[in-house]
Amino acid sequence: MSGVGKGIASASIGRVLVSRGLKVTAIKIDPYINVDAGTMNPTEHGEVFVLESGLETDQDMGNYERFLNTTLPAINYMTTGSVYLEVIKKERNLEYKGKNVEVVPDIPLEVIRRIEAAAEKADADVTIVEVGGTVGEYQNILFLEAVRMMKSKQPKDVATVLVSYLPVPGSLGEMKTKPTQYAARTLNSAGVFADFIVARSQVPIDEKRKEKISLFCNVPKEHVIAAPDVASIYDVPLNFEKDKLGEYLCATLDLNCKKPDFSEWQNFVRRAKSAKAEVRIAVVGKYFDTGSFVLSDSYISVIEALKFSAYELGVKPVIEFVNSKKFDKDGKELASLKEYDGILVPGGFGETGIEGKLRVIEYARVNKIPYFGLCYGLQLAVVEYARNVLKLKDANTVEINPKAAHPVIDVMPDQKEKIAKGEYGGSMRLGSYLCKLTPKTIAQKAYGASEIIERHRHRYEVNPVYIPDLEKAGFVFSGRSPDGTLMEIGELPASIHPFFLGAQFHPELLARPLAPHPLFTAFIKAAKGRK
Ligand code: GLN
Repeated sequence: MSGVGKGIASASIGRVLVSRGLKVTAIKIDPYINVDAGTMNPTEHGEVFVLESGLETDQDMGNYERFLNTTLPAINYMTTGSVYLEVIKKERNLEYKGKNVEVVPDIPLEVIRRIEAAAEKADADVTIVEVGGTVGEYQNILFLEAVRMMKSKQPKDVATVLVSYLPVPGSLGEMKTKPTQYAARTLNSAGVFADFIVARSQVPIDEKRKEKISLFCNVPKEHVIAAPDVASIYDVPLNFEKDKLGEYLCATLDLNCKKPDFSEWQNFVRRAKSAKAEVRIAVVGKYFDTGSFVLSDSYISVIEALKFSAYELGVKPVIEFVNSKKFDKDGKELASLKEYDGILVPGGFGETGIEGKLRVIEYARVNKIPYFGLCYGLQLAVVEYARNVLKLKDANTVEINPKAAHPVIDVMPDQKEKIAKGEYGGSMRLGSYLCKLTPKTIAQKAYGASEIIERHRHRYEVNPVYIPDLEKAGFVFSGRSPDGTLMEIGELPASIHPFFLGAQFHPELLARPLAPHPLFTAFIKAAKGRK
């Protein structure tokens, strides 16, 4: 089921194989009709992870990039919608040469074509393919059919892993294997037989239950891999290693691999565990509500990026989610923000929670609390500065008020047309762009470079008309597009504020456990300083 940890299991299998010197790539299959993840609300589907190419994908792509410490191309992500779209396009172009195009086998064949293309592009020894959704549901059956076809064609080159949950009902206190037995059978009915079963559970699965699963699910006992809940997801590859998953997987696929070397990964995990002194960070967003539950998936890359930089600096991040909607009406509760060492406003869209975010940004600026704005977090910092420092009371982003007297954040010219035509899917300024840094600014010093490449996802930008006034009033644009027209980073000088910086791009998408992001590190350093 979703949330059981297939993404982390896939990424961790990747890490286990990378540590054996193998070249690994990873693919995510999402069973949605949506052609990409860009049109889904984060509370529906979690964070939208933007690839270097600009493709808007599932957050698991972020897990793969982080665990594998790699950059993945667009071919590594597919949805039902994108597969059908391609098949229909080919049919319209007569590429099937008059043949009757059918759901089976043409859809699974297109899936296989993509898997093979991704493997080839990465020159990978192993390609991990995560099939999203739940075994037995209608939506992913054609992807399982693709798995079946691949395995029947090349049985020795394909290994299948079933990630299943083993509940320990509170009233019983005993781990139950039946749901997993049924899951294995349901998978069998799709013609797919698991080679491995990753046993997700609260506590590690015991020997007795491994035996039971082995007997009833047709897998060798040692192919039942314990995957208990962990304090840190980065422990998972090490736990898999304890159960020798890497060794058995290499044997199953007949791979020639080196002795595992986990030293770099272990150093990172050790650093994470030894960090004691806390820094408290407020992430002020709005994509948190899901019924009576609070969701953190919408901001997963941001949270992980904060962790990597904190661990690098030897501090433990205490990250709290603050819903900006609570400051929308008035600023009565703003003083509660004093207890934080840093405030971060992540990316976002639309109107809700905006007045609240603006109040929070003003509070951070005036009270000199380290502030880090990502995308919308930069745009709103500019709106706040225009309203409260330039005294342009009606300053706004046209995303919220198209008729604002002072549209300090304006729609990018090419975006105007797209919005007018209702072309919303995959049409923002997306993916990697070059940015030039202004010497001696906080940003430039943090990067230690004069040019950077970062990933974007936005339709609006700082309105060039207001740049001279903003600069005169002390706002510094420390990063610009190479032609100088787009403001990519804005900051306040260190003499005025310990750290007040916003980026038009999404630095969180490039933060990696083994390579923390310099802007996040600069922010955490400032937060540590405040503490
Ligand atoms: N809504 C803003 C824009 O479209 C910011 C986007 C974001 O934060 N990713 O420009």
